[in-house]
Amino acid sequence: MQVRDMALRNYRNYDELKLENFGSVNLMIGRNAQGKTNMLESLFVLALTKSHRTSKDRELIAFGQDAAYASCHVEKKYGNVHLELSLSPKGKKAKINGLEQRKLSDFIGTLNAVMFAPEDLEIVKGTPGIRRRFLDMEIGQVQPSYLFHLQQYQKVLLQRNNMLKQSYGKTPDPVMMEIWNEQLAEHGANIVRRRKRFIRKLQVWAEDIHKGITGGKEQLVLRYVPSFGEAEEEDEAVLLEQFMIKLSQVREQEIRRGTTLAGPHRDDLSFFINEKEVHNFGSQGQQRTTALSLKLAEIELIHEEIGEYPILLLDDVLSELDPYRQTQLIETFQSRVQTFITATGIETIHAEKLQGAHIYQVSEGH
Ligand code: ATP
Ligand code: MG
Repeated sequence: MQVRDMALRNYRNYDELKLENFGSVNLMIGRNAQGKTNMLESLFVLALTKSHRTSKDRELIAFGQDAAYASCHVEKKYGNVHLELSLSPKGKKAKINGLEQRKLSDFIGTLNAVMFAPEDLEIVKGTPGIRRRFLDMEIGQVQPSYLFHLQQYQKVLLQRNNMLKQSYGKTPDPVMMEIWNEQLAEHGANIVRRRKRFIRKLQVWAEDIHKGITGGKEQLVLRYVPSFGEAEEEDEAVLLEQFMIKLSQVREQEIRRGTTLAGPHRDDLSFFINEKEVHNFGSQGQQRTTALSLKLAEIELIHEEIGEYPILLLDDVLSELDPYRQTQLIETFQSRVQTFITATGIETIHAEKLQGAHIYQVSEGH
């Protein structure tokens, strides 16, 4: 898929912006704090209705304004679509070809985007919550029904936690508890099954790409770290049963602590290079390469799942690679994946074959 143009109104530091005629490689050049990241972020938001760097939609609305608006035309294999998204403190409104979508999940994934930004290093280095967010956002964009289960799970979790908190160390109503447990396990098992499948598929691509980048020296392995059952189990009925068993095992502990101690909200993902955990033992370079391999693997996985390549958003990362890696990265995707690249100056981009790139100067939100 290819984005043809985009428009912004009251989005971050843009009061009004219209860009047209995007090419397959697009360079957004501008000094610091001019709006380059904001521009890429808005394309990501048009794909997932969420920012890659904040969960607070309010931050996307220009200071002093009531609402933000972003739109773009996307050329897809099976036709062109016009996407529009309005954000206000009251919520989001999404339109496809002028038709308002009743559910955001009907809009998410119409445009597919993979963002690679400096903060992605946190997927490797940061807390489990960051990795769960990565999994949830990436699975959600290819399987919008995943987001339904996630939302239901979070609702049940909140109610279950409230009940545990309110019973102050006493045994909560067993009938109510049983109802919450069943609902939690139903949605939880679905989430865990899809996460494991996603990781298994991502693993194949990530391992291959990582080998390519490291000249065959490093084997990257992704492993799901579950809070119940075994890591390899993918049968939903079995997962559901294992989740229920685990809940009965941690019952006393949960009553004491007043919170839910097992489920996808406690799970994690870990990375190994040559059997050593990257989080604890990886060098800065290995952690960076792991994050890059993951993101590039995601491009292939999205293609595998939906039959089309997503767009690739490279924020501030190309200029950090040496000229050889820059060229390799661009060449790998140039003919297949539309790419948007930010840089503070054209002189920081050394990749060959960028002659045909469309260049946009970004200056104070214009
Ligand atoms: P760098 O090269 O440093 O990464 P950049 O061009 O990527 O810079 P952006 O992150 O896009 O810069 O931010 C540009 C400006 O937008 C910043 O000065 C920031 O303060 C401003 N900004 C962020 N959010 C809002 C908002 N909600 N309303 C108005 N301005 C905002
Ligand atoms: Mg930036």
